[in-house]
Amino acid sequence: MNAPRTERAKVIVRGAVQGVGFRPFVYRRATELHLRGWVLNSAQGVVIDVEGAGDTLREFLLQLEKEKPPRAVIQSFECSFLEASGYERFEIRESHDDGGKSVLILPDIAACPDCVAEIFDPGNRRHRYPFTNCTNCGPRFSIIESLPYDRANTSMRKFAMCPECDREYHDPLDRRFHAQPNACPHCGPQLELWDANGAVLSHRDEALLKAAQSIREGRILALKGVGGFQLIVDAGSEPAVMRLRARKRREEKPFALMAPSLALLREDCEVSGPEERLLLSPESPIVLLRRNVKGKRLRISLLVAPGNPYLGVMLPYSPLHHLLLAELGFPVVATSGNLSDEPICIDQDEALERLRGIADFFLVHDRPVVRHMDDSIARVVCGCEQVLRRARGYAPLPVHLKTPLPTILAVGAHVKTSVALSAGADIFISQHIGDLETGAAHAAFRQTAADLPRLYDAAPKAVACDMHPDYLTTRFAAGHPAPSHPVQHHFAHVLACMAENELEPPVLGVAWDGAGFGTDGTVWGGEFLLANGGGFDRVGHLRQFRLPGGDAAVKEPRRSALGVLFEIFGDELWDRDEWLGAFSKQEALLFKQMLEKKINAPLTSSAGRLFDAVAALIGLRQRASFEGQAAMELEFAIDPDVAGAYPFAIRDGVPRVIDWQPMILEMMHDVLRCADIRFISTRFHNTLAEMIVAMARETGEHRIVLTGGCFQNRYLTERAVERLIESGFRPHWHQRIPPNDGGIALGQIIAAASAIRGKIP
Ligand code: ZN
Ligand code: ZN
Ligand code: FE
Repeated sequence: MNAPRTERAKVIVRGAVQGVGFRPFVYRRATELHLRGWVLNSAQGVVIDVEGAGDTLREFLLQLEKEKPPRAVIQSFECSFLEASGYERFEIRESHDDGGKSVLILPDIAACPDCVAEIFDPGNRRHRYPFTNCTNCGPRFSIIESLPYDRANTSMRKFAMCPECDREYHDPLDRRFHAQPNACPHCGPQLELWDANGAVLSHRDEALLKAAQSIREGRILALKGVGGFQLIVDAGSEPAVMRLRARKRREEKPFALMAPSLALLREDCEVSGPEERLLLSPESPIVLLRRNVKGKRLRISLLVAPGNPYLGVMLPYSPLHHLLLAELGFPVVATSGNLSDEPICIDQDEALERLRGIADFFLVHDRPVVRHMDDSIARVVCGCEQVLRRARGYAPLPVHLKTPLPTILAVGAHVKTSVALSAGADIFISQHIGDLETGAAHAAFRQTAADLPRLYDAAPKAVACDMHPDYLTTRFAAGHPAPSHPVQHHFAHVLACMAENELEPPVLGVAWDGAGFGTDGTVWGGEFLLANGGGFDRVGHLRQFRLPGGDAAVKEPRRSALGVLFEIFGDELWDRDEWLGAFSKQEALLFKQMLEKKINAPLTSSAGRLFDAVAALIGLRQRASFEGQAAMELEFAIDPDVAGAYPFAIRDGVPRVIDWQPMILEMMHDVLRCADIRFISTRFHNTLAEMIVAMARETGEHRIVLTGGCFQNRYLTERAVERLIESGFRPHWHQRIPPNDGGIALGQIIAAASAIRGKIP
């Protein structure tokens, strides 16, 4: 065995961690474990930069939260694994003012243990009060209308504190000293239960108890939570889950769950140390966990996540959720309160309108939600946390850079949109907005793009956007008074990954996703981009093929398969009926014309569409109900015991072309001999990892970033990372920023900033 590889973690801890003995505690733990690095207080919070053997490092990180000094309260804990620095000892560094003095708005924080204890204590004046909070926890970003963060600038303004709350608020020794959303049953927000038409059925605790009863009876409850509405049903009730799917028009996409407790959750899912940390963290995201299939009767309907070995689960995070789940004692589906891909509703009257026909009852309250905030999604990949959807608990925390940037607004791409704003050395990233497919989503986008600069009182000097001329976000940028800076989609992915990993060029970026507008006007998506400081060189890409029907291929993997086969066999394809089984005669004729005449059949180098093609070729899926479904199913078919990969070729040129033809041919041979799908799928994934290693060798660049939606595929990411390390490279991947288009805005800002700097020396 080799000596364990040195890894480095950088952690920013926010909350009551300054002046409570936190730094000496960190120092003691780190030195006991022979870790090296430093800790300091900064305007950001307590920053810990520490390196050592991977396992020890991970153990240290878990201990930090579990064994912290009694007076320390952690409100946010952000950790990234970075390239090792070669520290020689551990030290407490002088606090420094790094010039990045921007106003920090905290995300919404899960109820702290003290507040949870109070709501379950019959002797406490906040017993069963669902809006209990304190200085250490409660709503923040979702209630702030403007800065500074004072009650008068929040949606709590309309509730005058009673004498008792007022006393707590003004007592420096009280846990609620200057807790802006402080409230109690006498003076704060209250619950109401409405029927489907908005008629009030009951108030306060009775509303909660009746809502719980309706869930027990298999009804669909719309619950106004922290950042908007959730739809809740009994996760164990097949008919209830089925009804929710039908009414929400969501056929197969997995639903998120909320479990009453970690103990109950363990009966259904496997939970590792880092996963437990995430579940119990102040951010309290939905965590993707492997289903436990040890033969016991599952208390969660298979319809929650059909065919999926993972479940997305969170624990109760607001006092309202704690009370409701304690009352129920079983897991519930807790999905965004919207119709398919629209943004979640925040206002009860709006909810009544938009969720009409979906929800049977509405459990609402009178604390206005200022901005929508979905539940975040995170998981553990390569032993590190990774945020896949950044919203409640994370937004609007910044990515902090070493040097200040000009003030730039970035508007993202088209799907999984978020916007970002640079102010000084911080890049603030908005909450997840969603896919800009509906009027409601457009409105949410415009609102967020206006909201961020207004909150931080910043006038953008430029607006960074995607290069795609038809994106709504691009048109928004063009209409903005500040000059716009279009940034190539995959370059933005690469820069985002570099920024969060604190990497400087040169870096080889592997940017694989569904689609992005290329500088040559074709659809890119299987890119190898060398970030060279000034911009990028497209040093390689996957071989192109034509997509019959263009965007329509996203929902029909069989079209990608046809494009791939046509690229290989040309006109011969139309005589080979064995490969045209997924199409009717008329369809085959139509697509034949598209491909031969090159009409509505754009060229693409997309890795995402290659996944689709393979899924269709091996008979796994011909049509998808959401983008990425076929790729997910390919991933679920992985058998880690299968070794080996398919052949492929790299064709020289500028850029190099990675030719998948040898792989597809051998795969077709495997299909004809009826090889196990698990065998084919695993070898396909392994081949993709080998392609990445081969291209890394070709370019000779030591540091590689893996970015783009395809790297939401855990096996692909872990396999590529492992093979790159074995081959002497240093791979990096996304941790705090999503690998999908939710990370695009960050990269756009970095690109626009360097363009502006280039112009104004
Ligand atoms: Zn609290
Ligand atoms: Zn009160
Ligand atoms: Fe993308």
